[in-house]
Amino acid sequence: MSIAPTSHGDDLLALCARVGRDRLLVQGGGGNASWKQADTLWVKASGTRLSEAEEKPIFVAVDLQPVRERLQKGDFSTQPKAADGGDLRPSIETLLHALMPQKYVLHVHAIDPLALLVGHNPRAAFAAALPSDIAWCLVDYFKPGADLAQAVSAAADDLGAMDLVLLANHGIVVAAETVSELDKKLAQIIACVRQPVQLKASASSGAAGLPEALAGHYAWSKDENLDVLARDAAALEMAKTAWVLYPDHAVFLGPRAVCCSLERLGGEAPTLIENAPDFILVEGEGVLVSGTATQAAREQLLCYADVVVRLPVDSRPVPLKDSDVADLLDWDAEKYRQSLAAAQL
Ligand SMILES: [Zn+2]
Repeated sequence: MSIAPTSHGDDLLALCARVGRDRLLVQGGGGNASWKQADTLWVKASGTRLSEAEEKPIFVAVDLQPVRERLQKGDFSTQPKAADGGDLRPSIETLLHALMPQKYVLHVHAIDPLALLVGHNPRAAFAAALPSDIAWCLVDYFKPGADLAQAVSAAADDLGAMDLVLLANHGIVVAAETVSELDKKLAQIIACVRQPVQLKASASSGAAGLPEALAGHYAWSKDENLDVLARDAAALEMAKTAWVLYPDHAVFLGPRAVCCSLERLGGEAPTLIENAPDFILVEGEGVLVSGTATQAAREQLLCYADVVVRLPVDSRPVPLKDSDVADLLDWDAEKYRQSLAAAQL
């Protein structure tokens, strides 16, 4: 297995582990990082966690030259493979990392920037927030992978001059020539766009007995950071009308929130059990969590709640289009319609 035995890598591994443990910067297996060393791009492997960077090999080596040659010809269809032919696959964003000329590149779905990147006018929001010594560009939403890499390559005449590439409805890419510079820039950017928490979970009615039929399947989250989605009217409205704000959300939480009133919970139990959503937002009460919900799904729901409570006052987030969501889920139209029907309770 591949892990770089170099000091360049060691420094980045420590930064990745620290950043990966901060839920306001990285959620679950999201985000990725890379560094370039001679003709090798070391990039995070798909499905691994930045938080584990110092515990196990999460980076794979990719031959940079052939990838760059194809990108220079405008061929973004290339799917880079690990140079050692091992089991780990390079991140879906490997092309994006290869495109950036800087030695170190970090891509995260950080909550505070996301709260602005899902808004109507992220360009104006960042222009107002960022200092003049941060060089940045903004890329509209594109599907992660080839489409996004192509859009990033067209976003600036000189990507090498950019400290920050903002990805609308997705996240940020920070680039630097040294790890300490990368660390400093990330901290500076986050500090400049920090968003205050605007919404809080109101007290529940306390009447939340769980219908017997659901008791073996669901339990109350008992986490106010999640329960705000059901116990704040604005947050609940957001979940109903602007559920998918960025790609990982669609992949882990599906195309629609499942919401239900406490009064209807018992009557809807058979439908809920049949459809088995990971989470049910019970209006005014809290979030019911399925016993089978994965850790990744829980982390994504918390990510959504963290973003929603930090949306600037009066901002109306722009959700991904239904066609973009279907594309992310690799669903045909019929399967997509069925899933929407299943969420209408
Ligand atoms: Zn991403």
